[in-house]
Amino acid sequence: MTTPALPIYLDHAATTPCDPRVVEAMLPYFTTLYGNPGSRNHSFGWDAEHGVDTAREQVAALIGADEKEVVFTSGATESNNIAIRGAALMYEKNPAGSGKPRGHIITCIIEHKAVLDPCKRLQKEGFEVTFLEPPADGIVTADMVKNAMRDDTILVSIMWANNEIGTINQIREIGKLCHERGVVFHTDGTQWVGKMPTNVEADNIDLMSFSGHKIYGPKGVGGLFVRRRKPRIRLTSIVDGGGQERGFRSGTLNVTGIVGLGKACEIAKAQMADDAARLGVLRKHLEDSVTAQLDHCQINGHREKRLPHLTNISFGFVEGESLMMAVKEIACSSGSACTSASLEPSYVLKSIGVGDELAHSSLRLSLGRQTTREQVDYTVNAVVKAVRKLRELSPLYDMHNEGIDLSKVQWAHH
Ligand SMILES: *Cc1c(COP(=O)(O)O)cnc(C)c1O
Repeated sequence: MTTPALPIYLDHAATTPCDPRVVEAMLPYFTTLYGNPGSRNHSFGWDAEHGVDTAREQVAALIGADEKEVVFTSGATESNNIAIRGAALMYEKNPAGSGKPRGHIITCIIEHKAVLDPCKRLQKEGFEVTFLEPPADGIVTADMVKNAMRDDTILVSIMWANNEIGTINQIREIGKLCHERGVVFHTDGTQWVGKMPTNVEADNIDLMSFSGHKIYGPKGVGGLFVRRRKPRIRLTSIVDGGGQERGFRSGTLNVTGIVGLGKACEIAKAQMADDAARLGVLRKHLEDSVTAQLDHCQINGHREKRLPHLTNISFGFVEGESLMMAVKEIACSSGSACTSASLEPSYVLKSIGVGDELAHSSLRLSLGRQTTREQVDYTVNAVVKAVRKLRELSPLYDMHNEGIDLSKVQWAHH
């Protein structure tokens, strides 16, 4: 086996390299086409506006929207904030200080922090929020949302695909339910858009966030789809100023970034079916090879209803930090999150019932457009070797193999 160049990047759910075709499309907008698209009375402004218009068409074509429904932002975090806070404030049932709940919001406990935290802020300000808890497969169903609906529900925010475990929620069905009940439906589509087919009409979406750097575009640019008809969605603006982007997001447009995002969407539209097919085979190969060679590993989240390029595997009887150290040449994410003081197990894994120990010894491996079979094979070997070595050092693994039931062992406490 030929050794691929190291380190190997398998963290595409965290960010992706910028496609060279994207960079090429952006370059002229730094140095020659540098106008402000808001400048209406000279050609510099018109040229910049033309670049933005083209990008808007490219984004709209990828998601099945009208160009007018695309709002450019600085990324999915900002899009989520504009959508969730903006919808809550616009559609509230009772004013602040009335003593009654201002409105009810449904989201899910394994959403990205960029959804959870805006919801928690609204909760502090007098809205009531239901945080759905998906079962071990990690999937949020329309039935779960239906059971949580109340007369005063104003907003549902459920992500399309989960960034840690790659599971896919019942978006089209949840959207249908929301439309039947007259409830605004937002989805954080950051891990889905540009990878999997998206049509905001057929999928019944009112608001959808997405990001450039997760789809081979630049960092610091993203978008929000805001439905304009059936129903027309209104949002209270949370960024005030020059009134750009239909007033939803004031501020001079990031023209270079927007042009790059547009190009990334155009490329994604042409290439995503092939990418998904190829990466699905590679990911399956990775999972099958690892589980064939190692016992006591568990693939987290639903086995089929998942993104093709992402897997999350927990390894029993190994210590998480040692595992990360042992596979340093593989760039991936662990099931631990660094908080200010300590290493905490991932709240996503914890929520779907993965124990603390197993969560710490989990790896999220996310493949991308440039990932090769050689890289995957190298990764499998490295992981298998590391896990075996760590288990050789593990007294727990020894005891387990001797048939001792570890759950019944009385540990001495100091
Ligand atoms: C990366 C990510 C975000 C944040 O996107 P930015 O563009 O980096 O702000 C939000 N939600 C999900 C699901 C993500 O994966």
